[in-house]
Amino acid sequence: MLKTVAAFDRIGEENAFAVLARANALAAQGRDVISLGIGQPDFRTPDFIVEAAIKALRDGHHGYTAANGIPALREAVAADLHKRFKVEVSPDSVMIMPGGKPTMFMSILMLGEPGAEIMYPDPGFPIYRSMIEFTGATPVPVPIREENGFAFSAEETLKLITPKTRLLIINSPANPTGGVTPKSEIDKLVAGLEKWPDVAVMSDEIYDHMVYDGEKHVCLLSYPSIRDRLILLNGWSKTYAMTGWRLGYAVWPGKLYDYARKLSVNLHSCVNASAQYAGLAALTGPQDEVDKMVAEFDRRRKVVVEGLNKLPGVSCVVPKGAFYAFPNIKATGWKAKELANTLLNETGVVTIGGPDFGILGEGYLRLSYANSTENILKALGRMGDFLASRK
Ligand code: PLP
Repeated sequence: MLKTVAAFDRIGEENAFAVLARANALAAQGRDVISLGIGQPDFRTPDFIVEAAIKALRDGHHGYTAANGIPALREAVAADLHKRFKVEVSPDSVMIMPGGKPTMFMSILMLGEPGAEIMYPDPGFPIYRSMIEFTGATPVPVPIREENGFAFSAEETLKLITPKTRLLIINSPANPTGGVTPKSEIDKLVAGLEKWPDVAVMSDEIYDHMVYDGEKHVCLLSYPSIRDRLILLNGWSKTYAMTGWRLGYAVWPGKLYDYARKLSVNLHSCVNASAQYAGLAALTGPQDEVDKMVAEFDRRRKVVVEGLNKLPGVSCVVPKGAFYAFPNIKATGWKAKELANTLLNETGVVTIGGPDFGILGEGYLRLSYANSTENILKALGRMGDFLASRK
């Protein structure tokens, strides 16, 4: 028997990938599968971004770059944050990362260890808890409630902080709920955090462009009182339909920057050079493709919410951000994962059971509306027929 490190047996997964594999296997058998499962835009990366990567390759950008990314891209990230949120960010605190996930991995690794507590949203992105458990830190779920529009409650969050808390993970707009935490609540949360100067905050803002109904995204960098302990996670995956490029960025405070730079040197040396040039084109080029994608998500959001609310036993609050709906299915009498599995097997509609995102996810399904309106309507029709037949 190999003797391995026990922590590796504690690493979790993202069930969305397993469901994707099953859905693909069913499709390969000729089944008519409609995916509302995986969280990635169904659009192509805009052509001018692809062209920039091709040009970078033709121009000979084939070697390693600096571990923290090419200077022009770090500067472009700082300029973009300034343009959108009026925040001053030094390019020297920006690091180019191979996607959004590595920022959460590194942050949790830097701050988590046995005896420490790390707070994370439940329901929330499953990798947070997975990584916390890997480090041996105690995961402390922060309840994200439907009756609160799936926003963080400052009061409930602050009550859970203890002298052992090292890190609080915030995610707005959120996966899996589509919840957006309003500025008034973030103001209260940040004010409360002033009493806890040793608690770091990781703000996962990967869906920051996808906010609807006139809401404005609040970037946590806008709060000077927590700037020296704020880690910003963001990237190109969702905004520019670039999930497969593996390109993200972090803003690290203080000495965490150097920890992350050294970890990068140890892990991946640098991010793919041509992808970095593509990311530069994305930030400095026209943004109308982003606006078009967001407008399309908004249209589908309305279709999906309206359709879900007509299904027997299903109710869905209007998600204010990202591209997910998180309907309550408690009145159908089904357990969420069982319903997701049965829907896939019997109707070919791919959804994810809420419990894959935390304990409070029971009684909910996650639907990603990163699919055409036609397919969304077809899927809702199948779900409605199925639920009516099983009443
Ligand atoms: N953060 C959240 C909340 C996400 O939903 C995702 C992807 O689904 C990520 C981070 C990871 O993004 P990336 O693909 O850039 O690693």
